Amino acid sequence: MGDNTDTDTKFSVMCSLFTWMQKTKTSTKKRSKFRKFIDTYCKPCDYFSAIRLILPGLDRERGSYGLKESVLATCLVDALGMSRESEDALRLFNWRKAGPRAGVNAGNFALVAAEVLQRRQGMSSGGLTIKELNELLDRLASSENRAEKTSILSDLIKKTNAQEMKWIVIIILKDLKLGVSEKSIFHEFHPDAEDLFNVTCDLKLVCEKLRDRNQRHKRQDIEVGKPVRPQLAMRVGNANTAWKKLHGKEVVVECKFDGDRIQIHKNGKEIHFFSRNFLDHPEYAHSMLDVIMQNILVDRCILDGEMLVWDTSMNCFAEFGSNQEIAKAAKEGLDSDRQLCYVAFDILYVGDTSVIHQVLKERQELLRKVVKPIKGRLEILVPNGGLNDHRTSGEPRWSLIAYNVDDVERFFKETIENRDEGIVLKDLGSKWEPSDRSGKWLKLKPDYVRAGSDLDVLIIGGYYGSGRRGGEVAQFLVGLAEHSPSNTYPKRFISFCRVGTGLSDEELDSVVTKLKPYFRQNEYPKKALPSFYQVTNNSKERPDVWIESPEKSIILSITSDIRTIRSEVFAAPYSLRFPRIDRVRYDKPWHECLDVQSFVELVHSNNGT
Ligand code: ATP
Repeated sequence: MGDNTDTDTKFSVMCSLFTWMQKTKTSTKKRSKFRKFIDTYCKPCDYFSAIRLILPGLDRERGSYGLKESVLATCLVDALGMSRESEDALRLFNWRKAGPRAGVNAGNFALVAAEVLQRRQGMSSGGLTIKELNELLDRLASSENRAEKTSILSDLIKKTNAQEMKWIVIIILKDLKLGVSEKSIFHEFHPDAEDLFNVTCDLKLVCEKLRDRNQRHKRQDIEVGKPVRPQLAMRVGNANTAWKKLHGKEVVVECKFDGDRIQIHKNGKEIHFFSRNFLDHPEYAHSMLDVIMQNILVDRCILDGEMLVWDTSMNCFAEFGSNQEIAKAAKEGLDSDRQLCYVAFDILYVGDTSVIHQVLKERQELLRKVVKPIKGRLEILVPNGGLNDHRTSGEPRWSLIAYNVDDVERFFKETIENRDEGIVLKDLGSKWEPSDRSGKWLKLKPDYVRAGSDLDVLIIGGYYGSGRRGGEVAQFLVGLAEHSPSNTYPKRFISFCRVGTGLSDEELDSVVTKLKPYFRQNEYPKKALPSFYQVTNNSKERPDVWIESPEKSIILSITSDIRTIRSEVFAAPYSLRFPRIDRVRYDKPWHECLDVQSFVELVHSNNGT
C-alpha cells in the first residue's frame, strides 16, 4: 500500500454521494453535488477509479462479471454462508416475487439484497477505498468460476457494511439509477470529456487527460484502433414526417439491417471488430480476416456497418440474423451454408486521415474505392452499385436516392414486404458525428400490423415485473393449442411467445387479478411443469408462475409486426417478433385458442412459401 492510503478516497464517501443524488429531485442539485465530490473529496489520481463506478456501463477496462441476478443471488447466499433453503436465500432467489413476506422491495434485486445483508452485516464501514474496490471488482470479472467469485464477494462483504454492499451489487448490475445522465456527469467533470470519450470510448484516458477542468483539450479526431461511438438514428412515425425533416436535402434511403453494428478497424494486418458497446470481437476474425485482407484495398481504414449472416443455399441474408446465429456461423466457419457477411454502409477513416468531416456522398464514393464487394461476404451499401448489383431480378433494392416522399413510401413498403426491419433515411450532405442522434439519420419502422388475422392465444404462465410492477405478474407466456380432432377440446398447449405490452395498467391488473387464484409458483427449489403444457428446456422461457389448468385461463388476441421468427426459445416452431396484446377476449372460451397447425399455415401463406 502506498503512503497515501489514509487520504485515498473512501468508498463510503461515494455511497453517501450516490444516496444523496438518488434522493435529490433536481438535476442541477445532483450535478452540483457530484461536482463538489470531484473538487473536494476525490483526488485527481482517483478520478478514473471513481467515475468507472458511477458510469459502469462505459467502462471497457473491465470485462463482464458474468453475474446476472440469478447467479449473483447464488454467489451471495454462499458468500454469506447461508443455507440455500433458508428464508432469506429463497427471497434472494425469488427476488421478483411478491407475497405476504416479500416486503416492498420485490422486483428490485439490490434492495432485496440490501435487506438480507442488513441482517448479516454490521453498521460500521470497513474503510474500503475506491482503489481497493476496483481491484476486487477486476478480480471478480476475471475469475472464471463461481467458487472464486463467491470468495471475492465474501471478501467484499467483510470489508463493507450493508449500505456499501448494496451499492456494490448495483455497480455489478451496472445500473445506478441516479437520475442524472451520463452527459451531465461528463460535463461536470470536464467540458471536453464527452467529446473525447465519443472518439476514444476510453474512460481511463478521459479521466487521466482531463484532470484540470480549466485547461481545455484540443478537439481530438478519431483514430484507427480506438472505437468511436456510433452515429445513431432518430425514430420518426411516418414517411411524411421523415421527408419534412429532411426538407430540401439530398436523401438516400437504405434498408435497416437487423444484425450487429460493427466498426471494422484495419491497420495493416491488425483488424478489430468493435461492437456498439466498444468491445472488440476477435471471434469474427476467424472467418472474416482473409476476406478483409484481400478486399479492402487500403492499408488503414475504419468501416462502419452491420455484421449479418448470409445463407448460401437460399442466396439471401439469413432471416433475422441474431447475435447467436452470427456467433454460431463464426464458429462453424464456411462448413455450413451460413456465413458471416459484413455490409459496410459508411467509411470513417482512410489511409492516414479521418474522413468523418466529409459529406456522406463523398464518403460513399470513398467506400466504392476502398472496398471490393464480394457477394454474401463483404458488401457495400451505396445507391448505385455495391449490394444493389448483387440482387437477383425481382428482388427489392437495398438503397436508393429518394426524390420525393412517394419514393420513400414505396421503398418502405418494399422493405416491409421483404420482412426487413424498416428503413433508414440519411442526409447525403451530412457529416458523420459520433454519438449523434439529432436527425441526420432517421429510422422508420413498421407499426404493428395484424398477422393476417387475429391470433387468439391462451395465457399459460406469467412473469413478474420489476420496478413499478415489481412483485406482480407483468408479462404472460402464451401458448397455442395442440391440434385436436374436431369436436374435442385441445389437451395440450405449446408455448409460443412472451407478451407484456399493449394493455393499459387497469386492463393488465384485471387480467392478473382474475388469474391470481390459479397461479402455481414455478420457484426454486421446486420445478413443477403442469402436464398439459409443452415447453422447451430453454430457461429464457420459463415463467415465474404457471396457470394451474387451461380451463381456468384467458384468451388474449395478440398482434405483431408481420414477421415471425423461427423459435429456439419456445416450443412452437415459430414465434412472433414484437408481439403486443390487442385485447383480452373474456368472451372467448379457453378451448377456442388458435392451434399450432393453423398458425403454421398462416405463417407460410404470409411468407408465400
Ligand atoms: P433499433 O433498436 O431500432 O435497432 P438502436 O437503438 O439499436 O435501434 P438506432 O440508432 O435507432 O439504434 O438505429 C441505428 C442502428 O440501426 C444502427 O446501430 C445499426 O445497427 C442499424 N442499422 C441497420 N441498417 C442500417 C443502415 N443502413 N444505416 C445505419 N444503421 C443501420
